[in-house]
Amino acid sequence: MSIREIREQLAASALCPQRRFGQNFLHDRNMACWIVDSVLRDLSQPWRVWEIGPGLGVLTALLLERGAEVRAVEIDRGLSAILRDRFRGEARFQLCEGDVLREEWPVPAADWMLVGNLPYSISGPFLASLFRQEALFRRVVVTLQREVAERLVAEPRQPAYGSLSVMGQSTYRVEIRKRLPPSVFYPAPKVESALVCLEPLAEVLIPREGRQDFCAFVRESFQQRRKSLGRRWGRGERRRPEELSVAEWVSAYRELHKAAEREAGGSFGLT
Ligand code: SAM
Repeated sequence: MSIREIREQLAASALCPQRRFGQNFLHDRNMACWIVDSVLRDLSQPWRVWEIGPGLGVLTALLLERGAEVRAVEIDRGLSAILRDRFRGEARFQLCEGDVLREEWPVPAADWMLVGNLPYSISGPFLASLFRQEALFRRVVVTLQREVAERLVAEPRQPAYGSLSVMGQSTYRVEIRKRLPPSVFYPAPKVESALVCLEPLAEVLIPREGRQDFCAFVRESFQQRRKSLGRRWGRGERRRPEELSVAEWVSAYRELHKAAEREAGGSFGLT
């Protein structure tokens, strides 16, 4: 979809890009194809994809052309009407109109992928809620503000390393696949973007029933970044949160749980 087509399509419905919903529409077809390829490549059919914020349907249309089933969540009523009209009669398309942060979808499932050029304002909270979920997606491909992407892949002692890095990397293998300049979107955002791909780790580090608790533990510990962990955990750990690797966070969590189990005389199912 060219910039002119985007403008015309919005104008025909008396709409204009809404900043509060982070509406920057992808108009670079090559980039759109590249994103869809990144979602589907090397995965066997059937392809089932949750799409967050389909906008005018640029990724949706390509996914449907390739034979995928698409469930999309769109907050904007006007865009939802355009999407319903555009994909009328397409049995593989289902639209959920609403706020992805408030409702209970998308529900992860091992045979579903997730894609979205995420609005910058919701990417942090959306990812945090994704990492708390018990179930995992088969693959997640999202466009994020470059700084958020860098937080996801950051390593210990790097300035961007934080709770999002630990929560994400304890569940998914995270990779920045491509940098996207502002010029591929209309209107062009003020910041750079990056396409990030997440795939479930081969080895499950935190069992599904413990993931929410693990994320709370990591977040709370990072909120007190300046203090050494020993003061918080009541043991001999002198390092700060940003100095621990993901593997060390996982074993610290397990140890604390084992101690809690011993005290309670029961088992939380963590070994
Ligand atoms: N996917 C389209 C594209 O690439 O051209 C649009 C991307 S635009 C960056 C973000 C989209 O997410 C917009 O369609 C916006 O209305 C939608 N959106 C914003 N906040 C949302 C929310 N909380 N829940 C669901 N959709 C949301």
